[in-house]
Amino acid sequence: MDIMRAMALTAFGEKLEMLNVPEPEAGDGEVVLSVRACGVCRTDLKVMHGLLPQVRATPLPLIPGHEIVGVVDAVGPNAGGWKIGDRAVVYFYVGCGNCPPCMVGRVPLCHNIRYQIGFSANGGYAEKVKVPARNLVRIADHVPDEQAAVVPDAVGTAVHAVMDVAEVRPGERVLVTGAGGVGLHIIQLVRLSGGYTVVADVDGSRLGMAEEMGANETHQISGLDAIPDSIRVDKVIEASGALRDCGQVARLLNSAGRIVLVGYTVGESLTVGSLDMVSPELEIRGCRACNPNNVVTAVELVERGQVRPVIDSVFPLSEANETLEKLSAGKLKARAVLIPN
Ligand SMILES: [Zn+2]
Ligand SMILES: [Zn+2]
Repeated sequence: MDIMRAMALTAFGEKLEMLNVPEPEAGDGEVVLSVRACGVCRTDLKVMHGLLPQVRATPLPLIPGHEIVGVVDAVGPNAGGWKIGDRAVVYFYVGCGNCPPCMVGRVPLCHNIRYQIGFSANGGYAEKVKVPARNLVRIADHVPDEQAAVVPDAVGTAVHAVMDVAEVRPGERVLVTGAGGVGLHIIQLVRLSGGYTVVADVDGSRLGMAEEMGANETHQISGLDAIPDSIRVDKVIEASGALRDCGQVARLLNSAGRIVLVGYTVGESLTVGSLDMVSPELEIRGCRACNPNNVVTAVELVERGQVRPVIDSVFPLSEANETLEKLSAGKLKARAVLIPN
């Protein structure tokens, strides 16, 4: 049996450990990818701390990493025409395929979810990963590995948030709070959808990047409770995960406005006055990662150069812990990506 190196979670709340583990083998309908790059997402910190129920229910060691681009290294039976050497990104939810949400393509809402790659099955912080062939989306060679890696989540989630959940229409004014890994792509998608983008972040250097990505207006704030009253918008897309008092952003909305929650903090509650919701007929909607069709759209937009995946830096897989610490400390301006070395 061949051995590979992986950065694995061996105990919740502890650092990842570099382990030598058996290489995965492709079963029915599966392929093994040789990982070219894997994005480092804030959700990986929640995985490490055991904050998500599906992770808690998974035996350790677990290899995290759900933003994967790789090259097909082995093909199991019934793998849908994929060949060794094909390059693809990975959609990380593996649904049952038969329930009503799966039938309409809303796989994260599957009633009998089988597993999530990087959460309840081994992910991309490794030299190789096993995935269902039907979760692969081909991506053109001219998109570099580090950019391709973040397409299935950091770009795909922005597509879902802006197009499906916020439903941004031309001319609408949209406040994006949090110009980080996902937020910088949300800004690009709002612009593509014809919206006017207002961006608020506590970090001034991120606002510079937000302007590069096409933000119409940027505001450095000390917190989400300190957004200037002068801002009036039709929709708010919250990508920082720091929102507690929804009333603070609700007051900026025009009537019939909408708050879309992309970020969240496990265990925290939101507050808002009920009359403040009812009188102007406001809505709050959650956005859970993205659907498979959003990844297809994200790949197309990136291949055509209409959306640029924003990468802060690339690190070797062996520096996964240092990279996660930088992310946790707010030292990354955009996605970091790990490359198996
Ligand atoms: Zn993620
Ligand atoms: Zn299902």
